[in-house]
Amino acid sequence: MPNPYEVAKRELARACEALGLDPAVYRILARPLRFVEVAIPVRMDDGRTEVFVGYRSQHNDALGPTKGGIRFHPQVTPDEVKALSMWMTLKCALLQVPFGGGKGGVVCDPKRMSARELEGLSRGYIQAMAQVMGEEKDIPAPDVYTTAQVMAWIADEFSQIRQQNAFAVVTGKPLVIGGSLGRREATARGAVTVVREAAAALGLDLRRATAAIQGYGNAGSVAHRLLHQLGVRVIAVSDSRGGILDERGLDPAAVAAHKETTGSVAGFPGARGIDNAELLTLPCDILLPAALENQITAANAHRIQARLVGEIANGPTTPDAHQTLVERGVVVLPDILTNAGGVTVSYFEWVQNQCHWTWSEEEVNRRLEERMVRAFRRVWEAAQRLRTRDLRLAAYTVAVARVTEAMQVRGWIH
Ligand code: GLU
Repeated sequence: MPNPYEVAKRELARACEALGLDPAVYRILARPLRFVEVAIPVRMDDGRTEVFVGYRSQHNDALGPTKGGIRFHPQVTPDEVKALSMWMTLKCALLQVPFGGGKGGVVCDPKRMSARELEGLSRGYIQAMAQVMGEEKDIPAPDVYTTAQVMAWIADEFSQIRQQNAFAVVTGKPLVIGGSLGRREATARGAVTVVREAAAALGLDLRRATAAIQGYGNAGSVAHRLLHQLGVRVIAVSDSRGGILDERGLDPAAVAAHKETTGSVAGFPGARGIDNAELLTLPCDILLPAALENQITAANAHRIQARLVGEIANGPTTPDAHQTLVERGVVVLPDILTNAGGVTVSYFEWVQNQCHWTWSEEEVNRRLEERMVRAFRRVWEAAQRLRTRDLRLAAYTVAVARVTEAMQVRGWIH
């Protein structure tokens, strides 16, 4: 499988070339400005002390404090975290959110850890990183397998270190300590807005369209519900344990309830069991990968039947596969656009915290919608200017141009 950091650098190089930029821009953006590795000792329930490895990559802060989630996953690597942090820089630039990009990760298996052990790990992570974190420096958030509860422990521990409440140091918190209405749904809501805009631009009638969603976490499950509300027939969904297919359409509330009781969408009554690989190549109009990196690869790209691929996950398509899809006329809505609703509402959460104010859910959703629509148009227009169907290249050029402008006016490059 391709290394995500190599992939990110390759995509960055293409954008710098298309924009004809000073090579210094690539040299700055190809590396995180700061990368921190820490060891986090945690007392486990059986009395042993386990030492976990944690990372934080602060990719670029030309546009504002660095921002991005923390991932708890057994396969986290330094290069994955670096790639994800670069994508955060580009996402924030594209959405015109005044943040730079960062990302964190801890190598661990949260599914095999108790709540007490996860609390120790979350507190240990922010203790070890406290020097480089802060509401004006670097602001973490949820990512794969980290929850609002994890963010609450981080906010509490950081507040204890500071000796004052400092809730704006982290976003994706529970509402009662400064979380934002609409944050939990924001990634999916933003993605569905982008899919809706793209469908309109392509003349695809959503009320006659079918979709398949890979991944049923915070993003995938909410995307299922929101697409269903728009009249899309979602025929297949999956999670890490397997998938389900029903050509008549899957009811989001029933599937979510099944996952709640059994821990997986697999085994949903009345649907046919499929695996994650099969889901990707099903006949449908819209394919939404909402799990992990490197799912659409050279091995399956020529068999993808969807017209529209919306990357809700970060980095789900390898560069070779992406090229195949673009050549075959499949419209790929790139991750840095499609999943940027999460960080956009994180920005709204941070603004509300800084102002000691709360917005209604309608206000959050309206502002999110506006920003997603504008970002989609910027990307669509850039693709026309570049005379390309490659929306990833178009999105990268818009984002890189903005970061470059900030670096120029700040005097980092000339
Ligand atoms: N982890 C999410 C992402 O990849 C959200 C980051 C944030 O809200 O800061 O975009």
